[in-house]
Amino acid sequence: MVTDQSDQSAPHAGTIDEEPREECGVFGVWAPGEEVAKLTYYGLYALQHRGQEAAGISVADGQQVVVFKDLGLVSQVFDEQILHSLKGHVAVGHCRYSTTGSSTWENAQPTFRTTASGKSLSLGHNGNLVNTADLLERSERAGITTKNGATTDSDLICGLLAAYATGDVSIEQAAMELLPTLRGAFCLVFSDESTLYAARDPHGVHPLVLGRLERGWVVASETAALDICGASFVREVEPGELLAIDENGLRSSRFAVPEPKGCVFEYVYLARPDTAISGRSVHATRVEIGRRLATEHPAEADLVIPVPESGTPAAVGYAQASGIPYGMGLVKNAYVGRTFIQPSQTIRQLGIRLKLNPLRDVIRGKRLVVVDDSIVRGNTQRALVRMLREAGALEVHVRIASPPVKWPCFYGIDFASRAELIANGLDFDGVRRSIGADSLGYISLESMVAATEQPRSRLCAACFDGHYPIELPGAALIGKHLLESVEKGVAGAATPVLVNGYGAEDALQRP
Ligand code: SF4
Repeated sequence: MVTDQSDQSAPHAGTIDEEPREECGVFGVWAPGEEVAKLTYYGLYALQHRGQEAAGISVADGQQVVVFKDLGLVSQVFDEQILHSLKGHVAVGHCRYSTTGSSTWENAQPTFRTTASGKSLSLGHNGNLVNTADLLERSERAGITTKNGATTDSDLICGLLAAYATGDVSIEQAAMELLPTLRGAFCLVFSDESTLYAARDPHGVHPLVLGRLERGWVVASETAALDICGASFVREVEPGELLAIDENGLRSSRFAVPEPKGCVFEYVYLARPDTAISGRSVHATRVEIGRRLATEHPAEADLVIPVPESGTPAAVGYAQASGIPYGMGLVKNAYVGRTFIQPSQTIRQLGIRLKLNPLRDVIRGKRLVVVDDSIVRGNTQRALVRMLREAGALEVHVRIASPPVKWPCFYGIDFASRAELIANGLDFDGVRRSIGADSLGYISLESMVAATEQPRSRLCAACFDGHYPIELPGAALIGKHLLESVEKGVAGAATPVLVNGYGAEDALQRP
């Protein structure tokens, strides 16, 4: 049974930045005797950077599953009273940025279904599937209707899982049947009334880790979320593995042969610096990228400054390797980018100044090296260079801790369409001139990969080199709003047609 206690009238989040959007954060806990809703709240707090459009927690007590979710930051959605009302020993938490489907209440997670045998199922998903159209077809054949207008691949997974769990087929058995048929990137955390489940796609594109509490277990997108709730790291959930945790302990099943292709962008930008992926510290990776960047693209300068926060470790590395002093030249207004107050046109025109403010005393009269994590459309860097010059910088040398982003991501990150990516429209010097820098240097793909200390063969770097490790269907069958276009019956299409797809329309036309 589900009790939905959420406020469905909340406004939509307003966003005023153009950075790559993270996918989602997932968290699960099985711990009798613990306040699982509060543990999940803190876990989601640690994962807030992965999704800031919506947040939700489901709690199960052996008898029922209660879901509370809403649009907004974790701290906006939950308060003491709500958390106190969510009682049980199993919880699933989710914070969302939409990669398939719009930012609406219906699309917030955990998503909920009732199985044919009357069990409750709540599910949170991080990543993005590439066979959503195929799942939709299967759902229609199985007579599964879209729940409350939800239009996400995650809702389809939950619906199919519930449909497969009929009669004496357990949810675990249903998952072992369904999971091998999913294509794309998925870290799933789901529960029924008494059992916590976690599954990771065979490529292990995004991270998912298992932790131990004194009286239970935790699964989370990042190790940093284990730290914050006092869980010790046990291991990663393996690519192609399904975990089930209940009073009988922890069971592990393999639903596919692992073919690891971890997202290299997790190391560069997405994950927290205090997280470790495949045993490698994200912070150490970023510092090493900065060191290599200094060797590959040296500069005659007086000061190295980061674009906070994700450019900071690479700037430290650049300063260490180059011998140029490191300093803070920009102060970040950390929370304005995800405000619920829609900025007016006048305020919007302030652009980067809403987010970053220069320290004029530090910058004035200096030749600067400015280190940022990536360039997507180039608008941020253009505004940044202009702002630094206005603050008195003599020269601005831009150094980027990732190679040029030339391809969209279909595995859970929203960059832009290919046409919008600046590195596609302009050559190297064109990008430099466009952003107004005195010089520009990107880390090479080889050096970035070397800094992760992972074999190249075990990483996805498709947004940089266009080699997608998980086969993509035709351009008409992928895209963020695919399900909405189907729902609206665009042009009466029998086959799903992409409308306003974020990054898909031109993605498969090779340069
Ligand atoms: S395409 Fe880029 S962002 Fe997407 S999974 Fe691969 S490396 Fe990560």
